[in-house]
Amino acid sequence: MAGTISRRKLLRTGGQAIIAGSVAVGGTPFLAARSSSKSKLPAEGVDYYQKLGVTPLINAAGTYTVLTASIMPDEVQAAVALAAKNPVNLNELHDAAGAYLAKRLRCEAALVTAGAAAALVVGTAACVTLGNESAILNIPTDMNGLKNEVIVQKSHRYGYDHAIRNCGVHFVEVGTLDQYEQAFNDRTVMTHFFNAGEDHISREDWVRVAHKHGVPCFNDAAADVPPISNLWNYTQMGFDLVTFSGGKGLRGPQCTGLLLGRKDLIAAARKNNSPNSNTIGRGLKVAKEEIVGLVAAVDWFLSQDDAVMEAEYRKRAERIAGQLKTIATVQTQIFVPPVAANHVPHLLITYDQNRIKITGAEVMEKMRHGNPRIELNPSTGGDPASAGLPGGPNTIVVGVWMLQPGEDLIVAKRLREVLQAAIG
Ligand SMILES: *Cc1c(COP(=O)(O)O)cnc(C)c1O
Repeated sequence: MAGTISRRKLLRTGGQAIIAGSVAVGGTPFLAARSSSKSKLPAEGVDYYQKLGVTPLINAAGTYTVLTASIMPDEVQAAVALAAKNPVNLNELHDAAGAYLAKRLRCEAALVTAGAAAALVVGTAACVTLGNESAILNIPTDMNGLKNEVIVQKSHRYGYDHAIRNCGVHFVEVGTLDQYEQAFNDRTVMTHFFNAGEDHISREDWVRVAHKHGVPCFNDAAADVPPISNLWNYTQMGFDLVTFSGGKGLRGPQCTGLLLGRKDLIAAARKNNSPNSNTIGRGLKVAKEEIVGLVAAVDWFLSQDDAVMEAEYRKRAERIAGQLKTIATVQTQIFVPPVAANHVPHLLITYDQNRIKITGAEVMEKMRHGNPRIELNPSTGGDPASAGLPGGPNTIVVGVWMLQPGEDLIVAKRLREVLQAAIG
């Protein structure tokens, strides 16, 4: 097309004089207005942690939200940075990302959400509003005529169930398979399963009974990769909706999540989600950088190998243990939590408090406020903070899987210093 400016060229020259007005780009009117400031930044940008005075830490804890969960691999960071350079139509990006993810993750449909908790909101909203457009506007304050009961095992009530209650529903708790069977009525809209929770009723029974009653079932598997195959195990088992956090084991942007499952429910979740205004999910926006970042993270994760990852984590734990074993009374053990969440090798360190006169909680404080700052797993020194991780006053738990290269030895050196200084 002679006379038109290619978009690429426009973007390349965008740093110069302001180009304003309607320019035909590929036949579409394109309003281009670019600031004239030529960038003087170094390629790597300004270190805003430094500028703001926020000190980065070494994450020897795990994928904890408050510790920003994970670091995106280089290829994911690069994909995010590239996506930031051009606008797209957000709905087109959602469609394309969803189709791509569904294919790669072997399910009917997929949606990138603003986290697993956001997936719980829009997934529940999908069940409540399926086939009822006006309900999208009405929830959660006007539930008139809407089904509003979610069946859950008592042992599966947890710290994320507020996300489900956001949709105006309430929980009906059951303990046994028999109680589950009896709990269905014409107000039942969904059943909910916490994948890493204690299993009184098996996943298979949970799905079978829900389907017998024509009710969709949701499985929250937010923290439950690796193994990689979990990304399709639960949808293939029959769960109608499954969520994974995007920023935990997947190492995508922290503010993303995957909602996987039945085509009609994912479509309904989309309608309840940003960018649609006046929906329960409008505040749960995911940006283009985040959508692309999660897709790139899934590509990265699927290129990994469970055995290789596990061997690497064991090696890190062994390297740390090797630095501590000469300290009197210290014992180490590599420990994989038996539940579905955080199912990776952790290093467990115990010692005789009569010899090493410090509690695990005090060790954690010293590591936290040392130089460099190191965060140990929160189950250190106390009650099990994470399902399946052992605790106890003389116990230190090192989550090695989120360490960056070389950090295992830094953690070992600091632990050695802190423990040796406490020998009485
Ligand atoms: C972390 C977690 C969530 C929330 O995930 P986000 O991606 O941070 O929203 C939900 N459910 C469970 C079980 C989790 O572990």
